[in-house]
Amino acid sequence: MLMDQEKKGKLFVISGPSGVGKGTLVNLLKIKHPEIILSVSATTRKPRPGEINRQHYFFVKKETFLDRVEKGKFLEWAEFAGNCYGTDTAFVEENLNQGKDVILEIDVKGALQVKEKMNTAILIFIEPPSMEELKSRLFKRKTESEEEIQKRLAIVQSELNQKNKFDYIIINKYLSPAYSELEKVIYGNDE
Ligand code: 5GP
Repeated sequence: MLMDQEKKGKLFVISGPSGVGKGTLVNLLKIKHPEIILSVSATTRKPRPGEINRQHYFFVKKETFLDRVEKGKFLEWAEFAGNCYGTDTAFVEENLNQGKDVILEIDVKGALQVKEKMNTAILIFIEPPSMEELKSRLFKRKTESEEEIQKRLAIVQSELNQKNKFDYIIINKYLSPAYSELEKVIYGNDE
């Protein structure tokens, strides 16, 4: 039998269209379960007001990002609405090897790359209740320009078309039941 410290952690990948509420769900998870490890991605996107380097993202130049791609540092990476985003392999593996569960909050293309590399990863798709609701959330959060929102909306259908490749689909109509479902997927029924 494996000793506790030899037991690997589980990798959970939370994905879904921009504006669906992934970030809110993940923030709640971190508040309720501070021990859970959230991977901080690298991105070439400019920080939004209030975003802190190393806490929300590692904000890097495109050349730095591409250098890391070339050196094989990313477990997965993808271009999303004109910017690059990637997950650091070493960070994820170190934590999993220490028996800690790790959460990735990444786009759909990235999630599917993770599954190909690590088929034990648990993929969770957060689905909007409707396109109308998603649009309204994206406009209300006021973090992107109109042009940026249109770029994000243009890819929603292709993202929704991939949802059946995920292990779980959670519809985020109301935050509280969606959060409970997410918690159940991650922690089972021992809550
Ligand atoms: P945002 O610009 O709104 O912070 O993120 C845009 C999209 O990129 C979101 O769907 C977010 O989940 C995704 N994303 C964030 N980090 C990563 C990453 O490391 N890899 C991939 N593939 N997507 C990411």
